[in-house]
Amino acid sequence: MTQTTTTAGSTGQLESDAIITRLDAAIDWIRKNSLWPMPMGLACCAIELMATGASRFDIARFGAEVMRFSPRQSDVMIVSGTVTYKMALAVKRIWDQMPDPKWCIAMGACASTGGMYRSYAVLQGIDRLLPVDVYVGGCPPRPEALLDALIKLQAKIQREPGLKNLKRAPAELPKAS
Ligand code: SF4
Repeated sequence: MTQTTTTAGSTGQLESDAIITRLDAAIDWIRKNSLWPMPMGLACCAIELMATGASRFDIARFGAEVMRFSPRQSDVMIVSGTVTYKMALAVKRIWDQMPDPKWCIAMGACASTGGMYRSYAVLQGIDRLLPVDVYVGGCPPRPEALLDALIKLQAKIQREPGLKNLKRAPAELPKAS
């Protein structure tokens, strides 16, 4: 194979094999393409979450097909369904057990706002407890909407400073009204 030496002293072969980038950008690129979801299915929206994992929608295109049921192996929590106060502390505990950096998608009207349940028993949005990165509207949202949220989350991760400490302050559980 013929190699040409450039004025900078490198060879043509090296130039074709090497990519120059910022470390931050490389880390973000790796993170965004290897998201391991923690499926937090709490009600009917969870059925759509399960459907998203089926071959028809092929979530593996986005590198997020490895659904984990262990918080220590997950970095994106997908809260799908009605968050009752009874479950809220369990959701918070699982979130706390996930290592940083981590992200959260609120899937559906209930997880985003409490949905139709303006009730003393239902948390009016999981963002009262966890920092939410992307909200998905709908009752229930289609799997395509969740994939769209995943793409939006990937874009957000790509903009984050990869080496920054992303740990966020935990929220207090709000009192039932
Ligand atoms: S948003 Fe609709 S489909 Fe989803 S959990 Fe609430 S009631 Fe069920």
